[in-house]
Amino acid sequence: MFFSDIKKLDNQYIANTYKRQELDVEAGKGCVCSDIAKHEYIDFSAGIGVNCLGFANAKWIEAVKEQLDKLGHMSNLYYTQPQVALAKILCEHTGMARVFFGNSGAEANEGAIKTARKYSSDKYSANRFEIITLTNSFHGRTIATLAATGQDAFHKNFGPFPDGFVYANANDLSDVSAKVTENTCAIMLECIQGEGGVVPLTSEFLEGIQKICDEKDILLIVDEVQTGVGRTGKFLCSQYFDIKPDIVTLAKGLGGGLPIGAVLFGEKTKNTLGFGDHGSTFGGNPVICAGAVEVLNSLDGKMLDNIVEKGQYIAEKLLTMRGVKSVSGMGLMLGIEVEEPLASSEIVTECIKKGLILLTAKHKLRLLPPLNIKLAEIDRGLEILAQVLSEDLDRPRPTDENV
Ligand SMILES: *Cc1c(COP(=O)(O)O)cnc(C)c1O
Repeated sequence: MFFSDIKKLDNQYIANTYKRQELDVEAGKGCVCSDIAKHEYIDFSAGIGVNCLGFANAKWIEAVKEQLDKLGHMSNLYYTQPQVALAKILCEHTGMARVFFGNSGAEANEGAIKTARKYSSDKYSANRFEIITLTNSFHGRTIATLAATGQDAFHKNFGPFPDGFVYANANDLSDVSAKVTENTCAIMLECIQGEGGVVPLTSEFLEGIQKICDEKDILLIVDEVQTGVGRTGKFLCSQYFDIKPDIVTLAKGLGGGLPIGAVLFGEKTKNTLGFGDHGSTFGGNPVICAGAVEVLNSLDGKMLDNIVEKGQYIAEKLLTMRGVKSVSGMGLMLGIEVEEPLASSEIVTECIKKGLILLTAKHKLRLLPPLNIKLAEIDRGLEILAQVLSEDLDRPRPTDENV
């Protein structure tokens, strides 16, 4: 099959929900992948923060294959060993008390929303169901998580949405305070708004939110679907701040490439969900859990420190590049604001032509490389980016005189 054949079939048989790049990916090893024509690409995307150990990590493959040979799936009506092993490590890494496993970030956030509502319904009244989320947030694509997403663009065409989601301005504590009512059961946020353009929340804001939550017994839900599992240089990004989430959601990087989502419950919420309150057919699949255990075992203190160092190294190099206006983010979650008249989507297209895969987030470029990317690979990728930015800046553009 050629690239043109794949494109034709995709065009005919796949729903048109993705604006795909001009690239097919056939195979990958480490931080490099190749297309059908065997061209190589440095990967600064990790499949949107998923392949945290890169492509085809040997130890991860071994863990997954070994489990696949033993037991590929069993219902959650029964006990399985990889699931409890993963839950134990997750609790040890985060100080949380219990875990519910699902299959994606949106599903994890659905579980968090259900839990927050039940907590307040059990303890106060069924009227206490409001959840405050932030403008410019992103929490998923299901109907409830779209409602939680504080961006109007996502709400077009899909209403009506479930009641009870209230939006407050990010990094505006007085706006959050003003939106709190006696019916507020939770505040839900990302410490760094990923899809929103790698926009960090300030520590004053986050710690102020914690105070509001403490005073009113409002639950703090932190969506770490993108920021979690070491991405920012701590296991959870929330661990950088003086806050104590009651619920944390994870997905993306957790499975190292296979689909898994997790809802972590703190002391307050660990017994909120009881028999029959929630469930998932595939959630906590033993093969995926065995791979996730390998991901977490790789993420030791040394690797986390290394993520911080590599992030700083990349940010410093970016800031010396022509065409880079500013850099945001932490660890290996970086947003790049490019100078006018550069356009991030065009930069991504040009980078692919030269052998570099990166992402956009809103008007920015976004880097989410594998957490174990090597310095030589970083240098190779940044060289391509610098070249593309520079060439694009020098490209003749139509002006009033020559149109
Ligand atoms: C990607 C993302 C989600 C949605 O995850 P899916 O696995 O695509 O459902 C939710 N929240 C945040 C912060 C994300 O980055």
